[in-house]
Amino acid sequence: MSDNSFVLQPIGVVHADVDDPMDMPIGGRLAEIEVFPQYQPALTRIEENSHIWLLLWFHLADRKILTTRPIKVNPDLPEFGVFALRAFNRPNPIAMTRVKLEKREQNRLWVSGLDAVNGTPVLDIKPYYEHDRVFSPRTPYIRPRERRMLMEQFFRHAVTQHQEECSDLYLAVRMAVIADETLGQLTRDEIIVDVHGSRCLADAIQGITNARLANPARLSFTEVDSSHPQVRWSKGEQSLTLIGKRSLNQQEFWNLDDQEIIEVQD
Ligand SMILES: [Zn+2]
Repeated sequence: MSDNSFVLQPIGVVHADVDDPMDMPIGGRLAEIEVFPQYQPALTRIEENSHIWLLLWFHLADRKILTTRPIKVNPDLPEFGVFALRAFNRPNPIAMTRVKLEKREQNRLWVSGLDAVNGTPVLDIKPYYEHDRVFSPRTPYIRPRERRMLMEQFFRHAVTQHQEECSDLYLAVRMAVIADETLGQLTRDEIIVDVHGSRCLADAIQGITNARLANPARLSFTEVDSSHPQVRWSKGEQSLTLIGKRSLNQQEFWNLDDQEIIEVQD
């Protein structure tokens, strides 16, 4: 051991139903964190938080790798440094994951959205606070190669914002996929969105696009009680109007074709 190294003792371990990192879905899974009994006092009042940060040790990582591609999302993209990507392999595989705290029982925490495999050592736990949130960060456009994965990504962003699944959230995600295919990255400052529909639709669109009402003014919203809500997307001279044709349940959201649920007007 060199003078620059230091020792961390795990404070707990992950119990999950995924063993191989390559099998882990991007959005993570429901898992159980077992905090070792001697650390249980450190959990006092943790259940007052809906979300927590977990710091973990990805013990299966290859620590020699410095550049990589986002292979799960789109292997066609160019290389990134491992510090510039949420890469699994890196010199010090400390993992930082924001999860939802579903339930606590004594020294056991059930969390959703965890992307750590069974047996992963837990190093630390911290509450997620409001000031951890940046509503509209600038991020690279790591666009999934498969449409289904783009849908899953937008769906997660919409639910994170809106905190429920509903018909208009499903519609927002499907509209955003079409808009992304036409106009490109929807979180850019150039993308302006005008929503005529429900508050649920506007909320979900905001969660996907990060569009604020001002500075810069990217989002406008008119509350309309209509079975044909309308979202107009524009980027410079280019624009696209999408009109909802019907309400959607979860199964229809994943399976129906675009033309069955959305009318496109240029
Ligand atoms: Zn809703």
